[in-house]
Amino acid sequence: MAKDVRQSAEQLIGLKHVRDIAPYVGGKPISEVAREFGLDESKIVKLASNENPLGMPESAKKAMAKAAEDLGRYPDSNGFELKNALATKLNVPVEWITLGNGSNDILELTARAVAQEGDEVVFSKHAFAVYPLATQAVGAKAIEVAATADFGHDLPAMLKAITAKTRLVFVANPNNPTGTFLKASEIEAFLQKVPEHVVVVIDEAYNEFLTPEQQYDAIAWVRRYPNVIVSRSFSKAYGLAGLRIGYGIAQNNITDLLNRIRQPFNVNSLAQAAAIAALADSAFLKKCYDLNCAGYAQLTKAFDLMGLSYIPSSGNFVLVKVGEEPNAGAKVNLELLKAGVIVRPVGNYGLPQWLRISIGLPEENQIFIDALKKILGR
Ligand SMILES: *Cc1c(COP(=O)(O)O)cnc(C)c1O
Repeated sequence: MAKDVRQSAEQLIGLKHVRDIAPYVGGKPISEVAREFGLDESKIVKLASNENPLGMPESAKKAMAKAAEDLGRYPDSNGFELKNALATKLNVPVEWITLGNGSNDILELTARAVAQEGDEVVFSKHAFAVYPLATQAVGAKAIEVAATADFGHDLPAMLKAITAKTRLVFVANPNNPTGTFLKASEIEAFLQKVPEHVVVVIDEAYNEFLTPEQQYDAIAWVRRYPNVIVSRSFSKAYGLAGLRIGYGIAQNNITDLLNRIRQPFNVNSLAQAAAIAALADSAFLKKCYDLNCAGYAQLTKAFDLMGLSYIPSSGNFVLVKVGEEPNAGAKVNLELLKAGVIVRPVGNYGLPQWLRISIGLPEENQIFIDALKKILGR
């Protein structure tokens, strides 16, 4: 009797579109893997969340320590100093910048500002997991468009998927978890045809890892198109994932909306101070870029030698196919965990035979490679 009452209460509480959300599954924490598999924490290698293998820059640590002396006060709600530094660097008006509690915050704020029940949000299959989450959280309908044969965004197909009900399109460049990259000319051709009532988020969380030949001017699109917002992160190349800070760049019409619905103090003081320092630390960024190039070469060479397929990646991670069995990813992942190596299974992205490996330090990459060789017997 009592049980029946409880079940019906569970069915009554909460909005249906919220109950239907499958929560985000992150990389397993080191401490959890150590407990679960009886391993020594210090020996575990984590290549699972696209974090910076160099950790946080020293410059940012110093700035943060200084800011820590004054935590009795609220943060600067308008992020004056950081926004000014970004505006100068990007050569845009300060009013075009919105700071976020991670760039995740920018993605969610944009969804909340433009979409609701009855609306449609378009994104690619195998695209970043936050797009469906942000869509469902506002009760809008997710329109997932089939990817190209090489796992990339099919922009012409995404354009066709836009209807009168569409309010938002998410484009990840490069995409996570596939690492696929869209050339500027492809995005430009897409933006030219997107109707004005549709906001396009260009998610550039991995922008700093692009080669000089790949780099393009996304800010020019923000200047030209009032329906474009570019989002960037301090979590990846800048090494500040734990502080939660990112930003969006868009014209006033969009930033005004985000400002109305963001929490007044959505970015904490430590994060602001650290980001200002990291932004100026070009030596750290260069070191991290070089390390990533070397790690990518190290991993892909090993995959070639093992005869494994991988998707060419423009990020700080690589997607590798570890078997032909339908659940090869989960199986190999379990064996890697037993060996103390945490990577990311991507079955929830529709890629159950693949694993995503974040590029680590050379010795971390090698520990992973050796473990994988042993598991696959190659
Ligand atoms: C990591 C990531 C983000 C968000 O990172 P934040 O830590 O919230 O800044 C956004 N988009 C993609 C594609 C990512 O992989």
